[in-house]
Formats: sequence, C-alpha cells, structure tokens
Amino acid sequence: MSTYQASVPPAGATCQSDLCRSTAVVRLTVPPQRFTADGIPPDAREVVTWDSCDLHWPAFRDVCVRSGHEVADGTGDLGVLATESPKWDIWRSDLGRYYASTVLPNGNGTTVDAYLIGRLRTEMQAVETTEVR
Ligand SMILES: [Zn+2]
Repeated sequence: MSTYQASVPPAGATCQSDLCRSTAVVRLTVPPQRFTADGIPPDAREVVTWDSCDLHWPAFRDVCVRSGHEVADGTGDLGVLATESPKWDIWRSDLGRYYASTVLPNGNGTTVDAYLIGRLRTEMQAVETTEVR
C-alpha cells in the first residue's frame, strides 16, 4: 500500500490506456516499493508514470483506490483553494472530479471542473480574468 501522486502531465502527453491516444489530463506517479518480494531494494528507476485522458482517468483512479492505494493530488490543496476563493463553491465528486461554481457580476452562474486542483485553479482564474474585462 502506497501513495500515488497525481500531477499535470507534460504538454503533448497522451493517454496510455489501450488504443487510446487522447490528450492526457492526469499523470499518476507510482513510487518504487521499499522492498521487493525478494527483499531486494529496487532500483529508483522503477518509478512508473501513467498518463490518462479525462475518459480513462476516473476508472483508473478507482482501480488504484480499490487496490488500497491513496491517490494524492500534488497540484494543490482543496482547503487552501477554497479559503482563497470565497466567491466560489468548491466540491469534489465521488469519482474524484473537482467542481467550482460562482455567480458572475451579470447574475449568471458558471461552473468549471477539472481532475486536478491545480487545473481547477487555472480554470477559475480564467473565468475571473474574463469577468474583469
Ligand atoms: Zn484514454
């Protein structure tokens, strides 16, 4: 049991699921095990990354969690983002997707969503930048 780190994949990264070459939205980094089954410390090069698109990520994440692994979002802290954004309602779905909703000065509501907190923050900032114009 270990903690997997979710992060933003590099530009141009594509989904590694079978036959899928869609743009990846999440990179999961699996840390090396402390010891292998043989008791031999593994090589640090064994760190594995896996890129997923928005279609394949929820199921892949679910498999990781069901296997007893924790998936940590290394791109931000949801509590910090909520504190910094009092005009936004922020929540997370059971599938691990984050949502942020706000009411614009013109009275219309808008909602943005993302699988990573850092990406959600970017989407929220894009709305606020547009709002000021
Ligand atoms: Zn995919």
